[in-house]
Amino acid sequence: MTGLSDSFQRPINYLRISVTDRCNLRCVYCMPQEGITQMAHYDILSYEEIYTLVKAAAELGINKVRLTGGEPLVRAGVSDLVRLIAGIETIDDISLTTNGILLAQYAAELKEAGLMRVNVSLDTLKPDRFRQITRCGDLADTLNGIETAGAVGLTPVKINMVVMAGVNDDELPDFARKTVNDGWHVRFIEHMPVNGDTPLSPKLFSVSDMRKRIESLGKLEPWKIEVGNGPAKYFRLPGATGTIGFITPVTEHFCYQCNRLRLTADGKLRLCLLNEDEIDLKEPLRSGASVAELKTLIENAIAKKPKSHHLAEGTSHKGRPFSQVGG
Ligand code: SAM
Repeated sequence: MTGLSDSFQRPINYLRISVTDRCNLRCVYCMPQEGITQMAHYDILSYEEIYTLVKAAAELGINKVRLTGGEPLVRAGVSDLVRLIAGIETIDDISLTTNGILLAQYAAELKEAGLMRVNVSLDTLKPDRFRQITRCGDLADTLNGIETAGAVGLTPVKINMVVMAGVNDDELPDFARKTVNDGWHVRFIEHMPVNGDTPLSPKLFSVSDMRKRIESLGKLEPWKIEVGNGPAKYFRLPGATGTIGFITPVTEHFCYQCNRLRLTADGKLRLCLLNEDEIDLKEPLRSGASVAELKTLIENAIAKKPKSHHLAEGTSHKGRPFSQVGG
């Protein structure tokens, strides 16, 4: 293993793979209700193709993989992909991001296949609001998924809440209390303005305002976590066994420490969630490129990784929806 770095000397060791652009929810801040152009089945990488690309990336120094989407659990046989990736010796962290709706059904087989842990997106603890935000989901399914994931050992289960002013910011203390009463690990994420945002779209609730709201429950002590140390800054409330993380993509971007690449479901290597530059790997792969050639393509792509995104400059990001590029 050589170790990869980009032209800004950032080590690159993390690949996020969108296994499908399909989703079983329609979260208001992520996808429009209708009118989404779906990728053609033929354009979506097979599991064997994803495996070939992960193997090439692993030979270059990628050792951490996350499966995402769309909703990864709507694609049939995701555990088979987990098993393939888990068999790559140098991959030492495999995780999955899900809305949790199908998690109770698949948690045990994912664990058995080699998945280590899950992040579950959950923006509200109120059933009615859950249905409003997701446009169709049932909160009980996601809560059941969270419990089952913990029970089978897909731990730590991290809960990701996108905090939106006027939509769910009133629930910050309820989620924070879960870290004390139920040992939850909750990460509060700033809402990113993306495609299609209108004046009525959810609005930014900054992490500094989140902290003030949560500190009404007690002083937040800085905390160091052991597993999956990404861009979040972690804390604990007094007496909590769970943790609170804050992720600030807007007010304090963490691009200087970005170690990520993204593989879209249609086989494009994407260098930044919020930058449209992509390098096609599917076509070379399907035309018989060797592993050495794929490695060169990946290295050349990494050399083009941009220094940072531009959300803090007040612009709404326009480009492929998160459901296509693996948010
Ligand atoms: N379906 C899976 C899920 O719900 O976790 C994986 C894909 S989803 C696009 C990945 C994450 O992106 C979710 O945690 C979601 O909340 C987040 N996300 C989507 N749109 C966002 C936005 N505008 N701002 C912040 N986070 C966003």
